[in-house]
Amino acid sequence: MLDPELRDLYQEVILDHNKSPRNFKKLETANRTAEGYNPLCGDKIDIFIDVEDGVVKNISFQGSGCAISKASASLMSTIVKGKTVEEAKSLFEKFHNLITGKLDENASIEELGKLAVLAGVKEFPVRVKCASLAWHTMLTALKNENKTVTTE
Ligand code: ZN
Repeated sequence: MLDPELRDLYQEVILDHNKSPRNFKKLETANRTAEGYNPLCGDKIDIFIDVEDGVVKNISFQGSGCAISKASASLMSTIVKGKTVEEAKSLFEKFHNLITGKLDENASIEELGKLAVLAGVKEFPVRVKCASLAWHTMLTALKNENKTVTTE
């Protein structure tokens, strides 16, 4: 179990990212996009990624949903930006293990940084889907190499 002080801090980070989400916009230069939907909660997320030379040069998202899904997308965007595509995929694995309880949250805090704030969702299976939506969508976008981005 996390100590209560750490839990309060985590709560604050989630509230902050929900209130002022980072990279919350449409990315005009994106060459990878994907749409995510979590019917259990009604969360909807569009991910925009600009990949250049195997590096996530820029990433943004838009959408609507619960506090957890929005905070998770915001945190994901700040952490994945500047990473290589391979690193982004590996972070997805670690994050997924963290929120499904396969990775010890105390051991992983250093490596995952602020992402660890979402470790608490593993106690709530429905929330795991909210927290992982942005990540699954990000992964889909990265694999979607031939998709043409249309500007409507
Ligand atoms: Zn949700």
